[in-house]
Amino acid sequence: MPGRVFLIGAGPGDPELMTLKAARALGVADVILVDELVSRGCLAHARSDAKVIEVGKRGGCKATPQAFIEKLLVLYSKEGKTVARLKGGDPFIFGRGGEELAALEAAGIEVEIIPGITAGVGVPATLGIPVTDRRATHGVTFITGHGIELDWQALVRSGTTLVFYMGLKNLAKIVAGLLGAEMPPATPACVVENGTLKNQKQRVTTLAQLSAAGFDGPALIVVGEVVRFARLQKLKRAA
Ligand code: SAH
Repeated sequence: MPGRVFLIGAGPGDPELMTLKAARALGVADVILVDELVSRGCLAHARSDAKVIEVGKRGGCKATPQAFIEKLLVLYSKEGKTVARLKGGDPFIFGRGGEELAALEAAGIEVEIIPGITAGVGVPATLGIPVTDRRATHGVTFITGHGIELDWQALVRSGTTLVFYMGLKNLAKIVAGLLGAEMPPATPACVVENGTLKNQKQRVTTLAQLSAAGFDGPALIVVGEVVRFARLQKLKRAA
């Protein structure tokens, strides 16, 4: 009997922001492959005899190649194991979940997808920022800030809230790109590091004043009028 894989989103950080379905799947898994960004508290739901494999890949550090992760997933499930693949946020938002799903399906393995709260929604929420608030915007764009040439004019023209993942290292470039495309320098903007966790840190400012100084990630960058709704004094840390 081949096993199966749960492709699970662990949520943005605080283990309590994981779904009930995720917790239940972790509780039946024989093997758990967990990403570096996932809080260890999420593993409280795992069986005590589950095999936990850490597959870190923080920028710049030693990384587990994606192909190897996919190989492990296939290998263990072919052994008949129930495998949980636990990823930060939502598995399909900048998480390579789609690639893992494709690899597993190509190998004939049954996959159940369990979505999670993505950082781009859950992290601004800690500051009371509703990313699609209709008083300020008509939508939100999730963008990678990592190593991609972006169409700054199009982003500014979209009029949507811009949420950059993996953008800390390129923050100066992002600011220059948006200012160069004539986004007003006074546009509200923020950087939030370790969102939803005890060590959350943020800077709420304007586009022109945005800087990565003092942050070393994982961090999210939010640019747009909705950032003016940030309520720093009411910030509650649950984790
Ligand atoms: N699948 C994840 C994103 C993976 S990409 C999701 O849906 O949230 C990793 C990037 O997500 C980080 O570089 C950072 O930009 C963002 N991120 C993830 N967790 C975060 C957190 N707790 N606080 C701030 N940013 C976070």
